[in-house]
Amino acid sequence: MAKEPKKRHCRYCRKPLNGRIDKKFCNDWCRNYYNNKKNNESTQIIKTINSKLRRNRSILAELLPKERKSTRVTKIDFLSRGFDFRYITHTLVSKKGFTFSFCYDYGWLALENEEYRVVKLSA
Ligand SMILES: [Zn+2]
Repeated sequence: MAKEPKKRHCRYCRKPLNGRIDKKFCNDWCRNYYNNKKNNESTQIIKTINSKLRRNRSILAELLPKERKSTRVTKIDFLSRGFDFRYITHTLVSKKGFTFSFCYDYGWLALENEEYRVVKLSA
């Protein structure tokens, strides 16, 4: 008995496909919906991360008085405001060799006794 060729299915609606072997979708409608859905998922991840970063930045701005270039805060100051230490934009090494974590223009460095130095980059 001849083996039936493996049925291919539309990547979007899962309907069986006929015709060309390299066909991935039943029609343009399915292709467009599939691609839009894929793009929307990545956009959502980026949005979530961006909002975490913006929140961290606004907490740092709140902790550092406007007239100051740097200040000392406690871990509680961060955590009570919902700061998330996992989300940073980049790191910078100071002249003295300390690695600061940054959220855009605001940065922090862990000191002893659960204290932190908060700094702002000047333009
Ligand atoms: Zn389809």
